[in-house]
Amino acid sequence: MSQQQQPSQEALLAALAAQSSRAPPPTKSFAELAAPADLTTSVSTDGGADALTNSRKIYCTRERCGAVILQPGVGEWVEAEPGILPAAPGSPFPAESTTVGYWYVRGSPFAFDNIGFSRPDAAAALPDYAPGVAEAGGKVKWLICAECDLGPLGWSFEGGKEAWLAVDRLRYAAEPKAVAAA
Ligand SMILES: [Zn+2]
Repeated sequence: MSQQQQPSQEALLAALAAQSSRAPPPTKSFAELAAPADLTTSVSTDGGADALTNSRKIYCTRERCGAVILQPGVGEWVEAEPGILPAAPGSPFPAESTTVGYWYVRGSPFAFDNIGFSRPDAAAALPDYAPGVAEAGGKVKWLICAECDLGPLGWSFEGGKEAWLAVDRLRYAAEPKAVAAA
């Protein structure tokens, strides 16, 4: 046994971090922001009603991943009772969600920067109050990070073009998108 010859895990991770050419963007967790005010911008829709869309770029929660999931303005803030997504032991997600917010994304998968979909999950049954369940024609497909497979971040339905992301399973750009000069 020559265990002392091997570098420690910390040394390996430090070396990997030093090799990384891109510094991770400064982000905040959902808990660090006041929802929905710090997370959304009010926009007018075709129907004349106002909608709240995400004002910050959205990232994968896993440390050292940092994949961009969604650009500002793509997700619409919708509210529903918590507890739609199954628990994910060992993940960086909050242990128990008390959050009522979800990002509603139309036109998936092309609306996303980086997202993966699970195979249709025949065993998954979302609660009746989950957005999309009443209209769903197919089985649940879980949303996962396309870079590191972290998930589930949200759900969609087989054959559907809509998706929902849990707001507390994501990270947010430290600063909202700058408003373009008029
Ligand atoms: Zn990731």
